[in-house]
Amino acid sequence: MKRVIIVGGGISGMASGIYAQKAGYESVVLEKNAVPGGECTGWDRDGCHIDGCIHWLTGTKKDTELYKLWCEVGALDNVEILHLDYFYSYDFDGRIIYFYNDYNKLRKELLSVSPEDEKVIDEFIAACKKIRSIEMPVNKPMDMMGTIEMMKLGMKMMSGGMAMQKYSKITCGKFAEQFKSPILKRIFKSMLPENYSVSSLMFSYSTIASGNGGIPAGGSKAMALRMAERYKALGGNMRLNSEVSEIVISNGRAVGVRLSSGETINGDFIISACDANITLSKLLKGKYTDKRLEPCYDNLKENPIQSNVLAAFSVEGDVSDIPYSFVFSSKLYEVMGSTQDSVSMRVYSYDKSLVRNGKTTITSFVSQSPEQFDAWKSLYDDKDAYNREKMRIADELMTRITERFPQFNGRIKLLDVVTPVTYEKYCGAFKGSWMAFMSTPNSTAVQNHDGRIEGIENFQLSGQWIYSPGGLPCALITGKFAIQRAEECLRCAPSRSQGA
Ligand SMILES: Cc1cc2nc3c(=O)[nH]c(=O)nc-3n(C[C@H](O)[C@H](O)[C@H](O)COP(=O)(O)OP(=O)(O)OC[C@H]3O[C@@H](n4cnc5c(N)ncnc54)[C@H](O)[C@@H]3O)c2cc1C
Repeated sequence: MKRVIIVGGGISGMASGIYAQKAGYESVVLEKNAVPGGECTGWDRDGCHIDGCIHWLTGTKKDTELYKLWCEVGALDNVEILHLDYFYSYDFDGRIIYFYNDYNKLRKELLSVSPEDEKVIDEFIAACKKIRSIEMPVNKPMDMMGTIEMMKLGMKMMSGGMAMQKYSKITCGKFAEQFKSPILKRIFKSMLPENYSVSSLMFSYSTIASGNGGIPAGGSKAMALRMAERYKALGGNMRLNSEVSEIVISNGRAVGVRLSSGETINGDFIISACDANITLSKLLKGKYTDKRLEPCYDNLKENPIQSNVLAAFSVEGDVSDIPYSFVFSSKLYEVMGSTQDSVSMRVYSYDKSLVRNGKTTITSFVSQSPEQFDAWKSLYDDKDAYNREKMRIADELMTRITERFPQFNGRIKLLDVVTPVTYEKYCGAFKGSWMAFMSTPNSTAVQNHDGRIEGIENFQLSGQWIYSPGGLPCALITGKFAIQRAEECLRCAPSRSQGA
């Protein structure tokens, strides 16, 4: 039986493992951590659960192709899908404005803030409605499609695709400037960084507004564990605490992997589903370049990446009256050289299974740039200073949250703090980024990377980095596509035991 070796047990690696088993291969997933799931994770602290990932999962609507795929890999087995009422809510001096996930309610809400902005509000909603028709092709990679399949796809996507193209050339900042109301300007500038294409915001919002961006109850880690169970049930071999140090290449062909423990495993086809930069720089020893990814790494201004500081708190008692996604203006505070004037909070009261021991987890995010990652990385050399800075930021956030919600006094407690370095250390995430290259008007990031690296046969990259802007669906799809490409490659090839 031909053996497929998969490096990385995140969502992409596990998807590859599942489809490898379904295709009749022997497979092994090698994951460096003790828990599978990669960035799709959560962890317990002080009797509470901190969900580290899913804010929305694209593909939760039953009549979509992506939903079928999530079901095939076991991610949504017997699980309730939660649909939230609003995307974000914003506090302006006590008035809370909701960015509702219902177009009519959103329109009414934004018009109540600024009737004179009707034209721009309607433009935003009309564009989102068009863009919602876009569905990621999941059955096979575009380069494996025939002419008729491509034409059908083109027809289906035409109107949404044209809107995407138009708004990918306009930044969130520029779109926001069209509003007369300073409140609407501020809201539209704060959902995503100002230099991102507004099409990204429209795509995310329209996914949720069309009911295709729900949240599986129980959170991210539970979803990852369901996929791991599906893989094992299909006969897959999940090896945890197994860090790969090298992909072994012989005569231009990937023939196995070497683990940090010194063990070598031979295989017929190797899929590297860990961070693409780790694969290129460490596992392939920097000997191969990729013409599609390199320009993105070299120009992070136009191909921005996303990381953050995350502080998690627990609050005792009922907090269901607090908006679960909330941004409020605050006294200024510093985070790694940038001045912040607001606090964003996520209150996990919407998922009752995550409210533990009468306590609800609240997380607060502060976005961090690649330069800030570098600063965190330098600070990490001095562990005491690094930990002090983490605690200082958590304290600044907790003070502001308690000032805004005085009823939390005596009930709120710090659970944990994560920095961009945490994402790098835990998953090898490039500069701590847990998404791939985001879209700006001048970005060169690709969605149709075939995962091949020039000069290496029987090898595939998979994972979010080869399908910008990344996220869970991109991890899933690339994981599946990697096996389809492996099948094409292995169809006629003799296996190792036949002396290949
Ligand atoms: C705070 C946060 C919020 C997010 N919110 C959302 C959201 O709402 N919706 C959404 O769709 N996405 C979201 N994401 C993004 C999502 O988590 C990622 O896009 C996705 O999990 C990436 O999956 P992956 O398999 O491509 O990569 P990874 O998850 O990075 O998996 C790679 C795996 O490879 C392992 N690995 C690395 N090096 C080695 C090695 N040498 N040997 C063996 N194993 C190795 C890593 O430990 C990891 O398990 C969020 C992420 C974070 C952190």
